[in-house]
Amino acid sequence: MQHTTYHGGCLCGWIRFAALGPADNPHTCECRFCQQHTGALSAPWVEFPRERVTWTGEGGMPATFRSSDYSSRAFCPRCGSSIGAIDDAPTVALLLGGFDQR
Ligand SMILES: [Zn+2]
Ligand SMILES: [Zn+2]
Repeated sequence: MQHTTYHGGCLCGWIRFAALGPADNPHTCECRFCQQHTGALSAPWVEFPRERVTWTGEGGMPATFRSSDYSSRAFCPRCGSSIGAIDDAPTVALLLGGFDQR
């Protein structure tokens, strides 16, 4: 988990990310936002400082939906895959299911 670069993205490949480790705060969340955002009862997350996440796909940054007063949910505008959450605090949380290596 040291300085690995993690890659991943959405179902259609339009949104891709490269995140430089270490990954912070691995956790699952069962709040109502995460359930509705992902369609799953429990969502597995890891977090990175914003400057360590690069959006490498053709689509650039994911589309966002303002879900609370401190965070926006990120998703692919083409295939609808949930990607993560982009907080106002300089943190990007990524859903583990989209990572190439899990
Ligand atoms: Zn997509
Ligand atoms: Zn949650």
